Amino acid sequence: MKNVAVIGAGTMGNGIAHTFAQSGFKVQLIDISEASLQRGMDTIAKNLDRMVSKEKISEDDKKSTLDNITTFTDMTAGVKNVSLVVEAATENIDLKLKIFKQLDETCDEDTILASNTSSISITQIGAVTSRPEKVIGMHFMNPVPIMKLVEIIRGYNTSDDVTKTIMDLSKTLGKVPTEVNDYPGFVANRILMPMLNESIETLYNGVAGVEEIDTVMKLGMAHPMGPLQLADFIGLDVCLSILNVMYDGFKNPKYAPCPLLVNMVRAGKLGVKSGEGFYDYSESRKAEVVAKQFAK
Ligand code: NAD
Repeated sequence: MKNVAVIGAGTMGNGIAHTFAQSGFKVQLIDISEASLQRGMDTIAKNLDRMVSKEKISEDDKKSTLDNITTFTDMTAGVKNVSLVVEAATENIDLKLKIFKQLDETCDEDTILASNTSSISITQIGAVTSRPEKVIGMHFMNPVPIMKLVEIIRGYNTSDDVTKTIMDLSKTLGKVPTEVNDYPGFVANRILMPMLNESIETLYNGVAGVEEIDTVMKLGMAHPMGPLQLADFIGLDVCLSILNVMYDGFKNPKYAPCPLLVNMVRAGKLGVKSGEGFYDYSESRKAEVVAKQFAK
């Protein structure tokens, strides 16, 4: 496998393209937006510069990585002659089903179709294609060039051969692939999101304040970031939407999103991306964040 297509040049897509290209793959990076492609390529170049300055890669490595990436706004042209497509477009079920139907019609019959979705069922995506045995989840973590884990999600019909190919491929990217079955939230979000939701519930119940909750988890459990700060970084809208997928999928109240989380999303307080969540990011998006006051 030498040629791959990546659909979506946003946060995840540009990181995925970067990772494949740095490992010597020819990457066809596709986005409907020319501006997103430009931003994605700029981000890749900036991240490669940082690696050069830290002496992790050479100038030549940077050049060959960038040379390995070609950009497209037309999906049909962009998926020609590839053995694998990794879809990392916007998280929207109708959009993903439409993209996979089109990929199934356009790609060679042997091409493996992977999705980086955080919460949409791989089995449901596979079902709109005529090749569900070749549809699989490759759930990379953000930032992709740095994070080692790839959750490999087997849909109900994904074949053993395709799973093995994608597990082996992920290792050649320097990642640690972990095979999981296709149930709501997979493994990462099924465990992470209830923890974040419980920390919001703890705040909502007035047991402790924002900084106290984060300090307990940072210093007591050796987490690098407190759960409320992590929720701000992921985006409170994203957390809410993943919790809702698990709540609907399992019909179990333990996944019900905390009313404070629902209210904050309704109020437009989405965390880092909106400038305010559990912390205030108006001055800084990084370290010197200030916890907002919440009524007990
Ligand atoms: P993003 O909004 O940063 O980027 C999405 C990109 O998809 C945009 O550039 C948009 O122009 C493009 N796009 C939309 N429709 C398209 C189409 N039809 N064809 C081609 N490109 C199209 O989103 P993101 O955060 O990179 O998320 C992408 C996927 O990765 C989602 O499925 C998300 O659930 C998943 N994911 C995100 C994270 C994260 O931390 N952001 C982590 C793991 C998985």
